[in-house]
Amino acid sequence: MAIKRLIIAIDGPAGAGKSTIASRLARHLGYVNIETGAMYRALALKAIESDIGFDEEPALVSLAGNSHIDLEPRRIRERDVTEAASQVSVHPGVRQWMVNRQRGMGVAGGVVMEGRDIGTKVFPDADVKIFLDAAPEVRGERRYRQQGPVVPVSISAAAQKNAATVAAEMRQRDERDRSRANSPLVPAPDAVIIDSTGLTIEQVMEQVESIIAEKQRVSALAT
Ligand code: C5P
Repeated sequence: MAIKRLIIAIDGPAGAGKSTIASRLARHLGYVNIETGAMYRALALKAIESDIGFDEEPALVSLAGNSHIDLEPRRIRERDVTEAASQVSVHPGVRQWMVNRQRGMGVAGGVVMEGRDIGTKVFPDADVKIFLDAAPEVRGERRYRQQGPVVPVSISAAAQKNAATVAAEMRQRDERDRSRANSPLVPAPDAVIIDSTGLTIEQVMEQVESIIAEKQRVSALAT
């Protein structure tokens, strides 16, 4: 019996562990991992380079339409692009363009798609919906470790200040994502919420894999 190739949506705020979980999961399942945040980041970078304001919705939409999104892995992770991505992503026109592209990329199944609105907007009928969350302090620290320099065990005063700044900027972006009028960051009503605060990556993976195995078992029974 053929196993159905699922659409798996993983949403949640920054630092909750989405990227790590989504990429491991895709590898294990032999699925494609689509990181939608990278698409907003790529558009933000293009806007910076083209001198287009982050509030110029029509110009941003036509920039997206004229772009071939080719990801620059390092540059799109830098702080100015991170901040810009959070600002360009509030516009309904920009989101519609992205959502259309994302649907096209995932419609055939066999995807782990990660973002903020995958289970609510891009694929409201996704086979599996996970909302990954964690306490703000933990998310701030994880983000800092991803972005910042390697810190010695006895963390210096400057590094502490740096960590606090990264956490504060992250909270501000989260707030923008949660409160925007169009596709705010909220769990879909039928999403399974996993709080990764006290969990290791392996423990989160175990939970996610058992949810997927159950889904595959049920859909195999139905066919
Ligand atoms: O996930 P990542 O931190 O790379 O996303 C960067 C920004 O892109 C987020 O802060 C959010 O504003 C936006 N985003 C979004 N919808 C998505 C993915 C990302 O609005 N599906």
